[in-house]
Amino acid sequence: MNFIITTPLYYVNDKPHLGSVYTTIICDSIARYKRLRGEKVIFITGVDEHGLKIQRTAINNGVSPKEHCDEISDIFKKNWLEWNISFNKFIRTTSQEHEKVVHEFYEKVKSSNDIYMGEQKGWYCVGCEEFKDNPDNSPSYKCPIHKKNLEWKNETNLFFRLSKYQETIEELIQDPEFIEPKERRNEIINFVSKGLKDFSISRTNLDWGIRVPDHLNHTFYVWFDALLGYVSAISSVDKSSSLDISIKSGWPANLHIIGKDILRFHAIYWPAMLISAGMKPPQKILGHGFLTREGQKMGKSLGNVLDPEILLKKYGEESVRWYLLKDISLGSDGDFQNRRFVDIINNDLANTIGNLLNRTTSMSRKWFNNQTPSISEKNNNEIITLSNKSINNYLTYFDMYKIDKASNEILNFAINVNLYLNKKEPWSLIKDDNNINEVKLIIYNVLEATRIIGTLIKPILPEFSIKILFQLGENDIGNTDWLERLQWGLLPESRDLPKPIPIISKLDYE
Ligand SMILES: [Zn+2]
Repeated sequence: MNFIITTPLYYVNDKPHLGSVYTTIICDSIARYKRLRGEKVIFITGVDEHGLKIQRTAINNGVSPKEHCDEISDIFKKNWLEWNISFNKFIRTTSQEHEKVVHEFYEKVKSSNDIYMGEQKGWYCVGCEEFKDNPDNSPSYKCPIHKKNLEWKNETNLFFRLSKYQETIEELIQDPEFIEPKERRNEIINFVSKGLKDFSISRTNLDWGIRVPDHLNHTFYVWFDALLGYVSAISSVDKSSSLDISIKSGWPANLHIIGKDILRFHAIYWPAMLISAGMKPPQKILGHGFLTREGQKMGKSLGNVLDPEILLKKYGEESVRWYLLKDISLGSDGDFQNRRFVDIINNDLANTIGNLLNRTTSMSRKWFNNQTPSISEKNNNEIITLSNKSINNYLTYFDMYKIDKASNEILNFAINVNLYLNKKEPWSLIKDDNNINEVKLIIYNVLEATRIIGTLIKPILPEFSIKILFQLGENDIGNTDWLERLQWGLLPESRDLPKPIPIISKLDYE
């Protein structure tokens, strides 16, 4: 069966920010890992293009909403290609395929008697596209997130009977696998325990949205429409997209990766909507933390927003990937610090891994005729034990989506191999011909360890992996037999080694 993983469908009010890059990199790394483990992956990303905020942004920019969405959607797609993101589907919520699925879905929810016409009164945040629960507590009527004035709305809207699913949702979120991390799950349990209220799923006086078929002066509420993008994306290849094709292609999603700010929509509204339509809820929702910069919240008003495009141009995508995936525990908040970033790339990738590979292939070429050494006994020594332990831990962590821990397993293995090399000092042993077999074994062990490191790092840093393996005379063979290739001793003896070149350049402080 397919493994379906999604990023959120990003709101096109602006080009991708560092937070969207972070989410997408996490998904990419998990998608690559699953493919290496032999699963057929559908990796979905895309854009959420409707709603009042988009309509207003477009008007402010002097273009039509459609023109605005076309432009920003292209930027997103182009960005993900530049970041080497291996998505399989890119869904736009303004596409006809999507609209068709929204209509089909609406009919199913309606036939479950979960739609009714009601009065919607309250304070609305256009930035959140959400009614705020209790603005009475906020004397200034401002959104606590956007710090902008809320707008009073009084409309007759279509409502979804969320309250009917109180018990169903309570049961669903009891499963510790459903929402991660634990703190996020507790927030949701707490929210649900206060009682779920029906929510409006349509807007009047808003043109930029999908029309409700039986109430043409209404458009669908942007969240009702956007969440369905996960479903329509699956069947969006052929123009004959439909709910049924999506279900047959493997719905439910195995994993939604989102920022913690949109957890409520994904963990409560979305499963209830799906169940109402007779569909299965997603299997897991993982809410990652927020990124700060040098300990400060990033914001336009603070003038400290870190532009991911600048990072990409300056450092390349894989350095940024390593920092975000290895240094931030998935689920916790993370901080981007420039000095720390430079230190981590130089220490981990350039010194610990790059240098280990470079100096060992150099020694091997110098002493063994530009080849890997030939050895008599390679199956019993401390490095094998270490390697197997690191591999097992790595797989366990990755299966739990603890990518930072998996990355650190690779790094610690490399640190230990460096220690082994420094302790054994083959450069001293080689001076005495009697030590030749021992030197051969040491060099083989270190080279084989770097082959394992290069193989393990593939889902995290795909290009870096290819570069490591190339230095050992290995060609990239894609996703086949990845697990088998982690077995010790597969590096051929007396194999020609290419001339060593540095696989990553060191970074300078700004
Ligand atoms: Zn807001």
